[in-house]
Amino acid sequence: MNVLVLNSGSSSQKSCLYEIGDTLPAEPPACIWEGKIEWSDDQAEYSIRNSRGASKNEMVPAGSRGEAIERLLQSLWSGDTQAISGPSEIDVVGHRVVHGGLRHFEPAIVTERIKTAIEVASVFAPLHSRAELQGMEIVEKLLGAVPQLAVFDTGFHRTMPPSASTYPGPYEWFEQGIRRYGFHGINHQYCAERAAQLLGKKMGSLRQVTCHLGNGCSLAAIREGRSVDTTMGFTPLEGLMMGTRSGTVDPGILTYLIRQRQFSAPQLDDVLNKKSGLLGVSGISSDMREILDASRKGHARSRLALDIYVHRLQSGIGAMIAVLGGVDVLVFTAGVGENSPEVRAAVCDNFAFLGLRLDQTKNTKSPSDEDISAPDATVRVLVIHAQEDWMIARECWNLVHSAPTRVRP
Ligand code: ADP
Repeated sequence: MNVLVLNSGSSSQKSCLYEIGDTLPAEPPACIWEGKIEWSDDQAEYSIRNSRGASKNEMVPAGSRGEAIERLLQSLWSGDTQAISGPSEIDVVGHRVVHGGLRHFEPAIVTERIKTAIEVASVFAPLHSRAELQGMEIVEKLLGAVPQLAVFDTGFHRTMPPSASTYPGPYEWFEQGIRRYGFHGINHQYCAERAAQLLGKKMGSLRQVTCHLGNGCSLAAIREGRSVDTTMGFTPLEGLMMGTRSGTVDPGILTYLIRQRQFSAPQLDDVLNKKSGLLGVSGISSDMREILDASRKGHARSRLALDIYVHRLQSGIGAMIAVLGGVDVLVFTAGVGENSPEVRAAVCDNFAFLGLRLDQTKNTKSPSDEDISAPDATVRVLVIHAQEDWMIARECWNLVHSAPTRVRP
């Protein structure tokens, strides 16, 4: 069975194709085709490769997003990076959908009703929702009536208790949908399952804290395989310090900026989402590699940015551990989590009192899907490669195998 996955970001479009047999493999397989478009200013950069080793990288004038996605998908069955002979070879398409709104948490077959629900939820995540709906329409145009599945990034956090999902504002906020949804749920869930598998333990026996540290950063507290708390909330702006996002700041700063500095809503959005975080504090970059490099060379604001990043991570992890009443497993995932031994070591340093200790040699070797804790540590620390797309492909496979008549009427 061929499963195509579309992962739409506000300024990027990733897509990959998995070939899955009659049983799900225990280890995540490599995809047989992978394509990505990244937009910057008026340029679009394409990177495409297939499993036969053919690859293409090119920068072209941006054009419309819709045309670019059509072109990306057409390269699946034409040109040097072709992976299949035609669109009819795709059996099912899965979409990462950032926000399912108040009602949609479980993976859902894309129907007109689901598209309307995503449209309604677009007030919460306008840039993402528009891109996701456009992706679904392009698939309909190019692939016809192929079944499509929406997998929601908010879905995994639906199990948070009301004490974690309700803001302490007026109760009407909750009724109006102003509540903590949480994001990165597809990868937090994947990491919790993968950690249990790697440790040979049942999910039901574990208290886990998963640290998704990419351009966006969030933590999840997971008890018995269910999310009970997370750091992102109503939007992906709450919580940890991120590449260009501030994370949590005193809301009084916002009213101060509105009153005293005449900030408009778009200006607030811009400063909090694009001009804060590592970039805002360091003044040089949102890229952790550059921050680490500059702080080693003595750049004071980069050092400060790194110190804030680690401080907020430590206090966030501490809060998640308190919510869980202890911790058995700490997982690092995504760009920074997977690739920065310095950040992992600095974060873990303060948790030695809990019996959490790293094996320094394993930590420094770019581990992937490995336990990097010291043999005598009482808390396991794992590095797990983020696999949102594989998680979505698995949901598609499960759907086709558990309810074939629903997807093929
Ligand atoms: P996204 O959230 O966009 O999917 P990624 O998960 O790819 O992003 O993470 C991007 C972040 O990972 C960037 O801040 C980048 O600097 C960081 N990163 C990538 N490689 C390394 C590395 N070797 N050391 C430190 N940080 C890294």
